[in-house]
Amino acid sequence: MSERVPLIAGNWKMNLTPDEGRAWCDGFKARLATPPERVEIAVCPPFTALEAVVSSLVGYPAWVGSQTIHSQASGAHTGEISAEMVLATGAVGTILGHSERREAGETDEMVATRVRRALDAGLRVILCVGERLEQREAGETDAHVRAQVAAALARVDRGESQRIDIAYEPIWAIGTGRTATPEIAQETCAVVRDAASAHVDGGVIRVLYGGSVNDQNAAELLSQADIDGALVGGASLDVEKFAAIVEAA
Ligand code: PEP
Repeated sequence: MSERVPLIAGNWKMNLTPDEGRAWCDGFKARLATPPERVEIAVCPPFTALEAVVSSLVGYPAWVGSQTIHSQASGAHTGEISAEMVLATGAVGTILGHSERREAGETDEMVATRVRRALDAGLRVILCVGERLEQREAGETDAHVRAQVAAALARVDRGESQRIDIAYEPIWAIGTGRTATPEIAQETCAVVRDAASAHVDGGVIRVLYGGSVNDQNAAELLSQADIDGALVGGASLDVEKFAAIVEAA
């Protein structure tokens, strides 16, 4: 790994109520009272638990993000949440373009607009990209992730390189227990970095790997040259496993 400080981010998806989120934070702080110095930790709970998790982590070196935002600041968008609303909870970042949201209809253009909106509002961004199994088998992975990166970063300035992390998450590895091999993860994370370099500083931007990362496979994945951290779904709900992944970084 380079001098880029690794980021271990937990995506809780549609799990944990505010009370359960508080209990997770209490458990995590007890398990990892003094986190390793050169690791950044982030937690992305559902909207309803943001405030509870932010207040539970006051004074602890971890930041909180949402799992998406809408592209407008306010208005007639039933069920949506704006960047301003997320910021008002004390959260400082957001995941954008997760494959589960793309599956529900989020297009490259919507992701690009949301990336710009998040940065303009003052949130940092974890942008997700990744290919389906059919695309990998058809040899289309590189072209696909390059296109996703180019679209999402089209309106981002080089000066914003430190405010964006990109998570390479092969869709076939998310929630399946089928992790990409360290070689595959490294190879595609390098492609993601190269694609991002047309828009941001490739030496600065962090590229994370996501897809069935757990306490057993984290160390090997995180030792790859172009993998600067992990976006962790299922294993992030388990305090012990998430703490072990942080320690592996
Ligand atoms: C994710 O949803 O971002 C993810 C990587 O999930 P999991 O770790 O469960 O595969």
